[in-house]
Amino acid sequence: MTAMYGSKENTPLLRVKNLQTGFKIDGDYYNAVEGVSFDVLPKQIVGVVGESGCGKSVMSLSIMQLLPNGIGKIRGGGIEFEGQDISTYSDKQMNGIRGKDISMIFQEPMTSLNPVFTIGYQIEEVILNHEKLTKKEARLRSVALLKQVGIPRAEQIVTEYPHQLSGGMRQRVMIAMAIACQPKLLIADEPTTALDVTVQAQILELLKGIQEANDMSIILITHDLGVVAEICDEVLVMYAGKIVERAYVDDLFRDPKHPYTELLMKAIPKMDEDVEELATIEGLVPSVINMPQVGCRFANRCPKAMAECLMVTPQLAEVADRHEAACLLYEESWPTDGKREREGVAAL
Ligand code: SF4
Repeated sequence: MTAMYGSKENTPLLRVKNLQTGFKIDGDYYNAVEGVSFDVLPKQIVGVVGESGCGKSVMSLSIMQLLPNGIGKIRGGGIEFEGQDISTYSDKQMNGIRGKDISMIFQEPMTSLNPVFTIGYQIEEVILNHEKLTKKEARLRSVALLKQVGIPRAEQIVTEYPHQLSGGMRQRVMIAMAIACQPKLLIADEPTTALDVTVQAQILELLKGIQEANDMSIILITHDLGVVAEICDEVLVMYAGKIVERAYVDDLFRDPKHPYTELLMKAIPKMDEDVEELATIEGLVPSVINMPQVGCRFANRCPKAMAECLMVTPQLAEVADRHEAACLLYEESWPTDGKREREGVAAL
């Protein structure tokens, strides 16, 4: 398995450092992503899991610099891609990277595919934006890409329009577009959520196959831990804008540490159990404007909450070998540096 945290031998392809992304609401900025740090190594698949509103999609839009103009903004931290801080890149600089070095696919391909252009035209546009090829060469590449993502009748499909394809086929087209210039990193935001279970499995298998064939890294964003189990190496669990647990996928499933992850785990359907209703997590993720400033952001939903969880902000710390969690249950693992830092209460 790929080494977990970046090392000299295995330099990260992407390094997100203390990222803070905010949204302007009524003239004030509120952070939807708060101090998120992680690495993606070459050829690694990192899953980012959490409910909607946890900041996972905002985090990926920050990496791509696709935040809504004038509303969303990177307010702190950095995003290094191949050693360059791209968080300060201009639109023009990002246009040179997007689609070429870093690509993204979304949950609903119809929002990304243009209904009035043929499939072939749209794939060729991506290729011609970044590579000096003739239209004929780009068409040949488009057909080859469609074949690579398992689309039958590729020569015919390039002349068709998005509405003529099924949801699963449209997602395959999106993947073909995303890999058209052989990016080093693919960000897949809920790529299978809109698809039925059988097609979901096929798309995940396809992504894994392409990752291996192209030596690509993937950030897979999902609300579904079951999807993570299928193809990811490492998992980040996000809650209310922060990473609350990080581990290799096997370790996370064998021994989840954070109470939120435990509840997410209970919400995964199990083939061998006959349950009428899946477990759900009571309550909602706090909104960005009502985010607790001190204490654990999960406290009002956590079955293991203690009084001090409202007063002490948990730190992400190593709680087992290569396994981190941010929870007061593991406070003894926090770095002490002589005196434990606590917010809101005196050191106990
Ligand atoms: Fe639950 Fe407290 Fe841990 Fe937060 S810090 S997850 S409230 S036990």
